[in-house]
Amino acid sequence: MQKKEFVVFGLGRFGRSVTTKLAESGCGVLVVDNDEDKIQEMADIVTYAVRADVCDSEMIETLGISNFDGAIVAIGENLEASVMITILVKELGIPFVLAKAQTDIHAKVLKKVGADTVVFPEKETGIRIAHNLMMGNLFNAIELSSTTSMMEIDVPESWDGQSITELNLRAKYKVNVIGIKHKSELNINPDPEEQLSKDDILIVIGKNDTLNKLANLD
Ligand code: ATP
Repeated sequence: MQKKEFVVFGLGRFGRSVTTKLAESGCGVLVVDNDEDKIQEMADIVTYAVRADVCDSEMIETLGISNFDGAIVAIGENLEASVMITILVKELGIPFVLAKAQTDIHAKVLKKVGADTVVFPEKETGIRIAHNLMMGNLFNAIELSSTTSMMEIDVPESWDGQSITELNLRAKYKVNVIGIKHKSELNINPDPEEQLSKDDILIVIGKNDTLNKLANLD
């Protein structure tokens, strides 16, 4: 697979965290910030780090980013800069632009000028954490809708040695087991006839109240 290339504008906490993960995952990353210290901090892990003002369209056009796979606009506070660079990268033809917003109005403007996805990292993380707290499973639940989640559930002792088919999970609880973790190895194509061990972890999709019930079985 060809290495994907991304450009990240703004190296606040969100921009740095996206950059680090992309770079660690083997993507090419070009970062732009007008703060020299922030550029120096990331220079070693990225493909290219440029100190520039994102409102300087002539400078940005010289970076040759039109063939990149995506742009991340990680500037929250400077509304003008965030909107200007979103317009510019869309004009340059970058196919996917994700922008961080600080307020609902900011998000609306970013959408209007062409951002493909607008995120509110703090708000979204807060909602996810609250959801996981509510599910009694701080790290291992992902909300799919207001009533449905995907969750990691320890195999209850009473299920030890039985298979998914024997337990009749789909009919009895209306949940789908989409994966089984055995000693940290994840099988995403589980055999319904395979015997479960009480040390396994199931990845299950279902209604929140049912998942909660399953998570509390002995
Ligand atoms: P976080 O919450 O992710 O830490 P933030 O939204 O509070 O970020 P901002 O103050 O918006 O952070 O700035 C993010 C980064 O964007 C900073 O490193 C800042 O130097 C950079 N930045 C702000 N304006 C410009 C600009 N016009 N050109 C280039 N970089 C900019």
